[in-house]
Amino acid sequence: MLCLTCHRVRPALSRSDYTAERAWLIVRQGLCACGVTPGRTWPPPVVREPATSPK
Ligand SMILES: [Zn+2]
Repeated sequence: MLCLTCHRVRPALSRSDYTAERAWLIVRQGLCACGVTPGRTWPPPVVREPATSPK
C-alpha cells in the first residue's frame, strides 16, 4: 500500500481500495504522487480527520 520511493500512501486503484485504514494512513503519511500514471483518472482520495464514531 505504501510507496517504496517516498513511503507515502499510493493512490487507490479502485473504489474498493478506499478503506478506513488507507484513509487513516493518508492522513498520517500523506499521499504519494510519484506513482500516478498520467492520463489515468482516479477519484481523489477523501482526506478527512479520523472520526471518532462509535461502532
Ligand atoms: Zn511515492
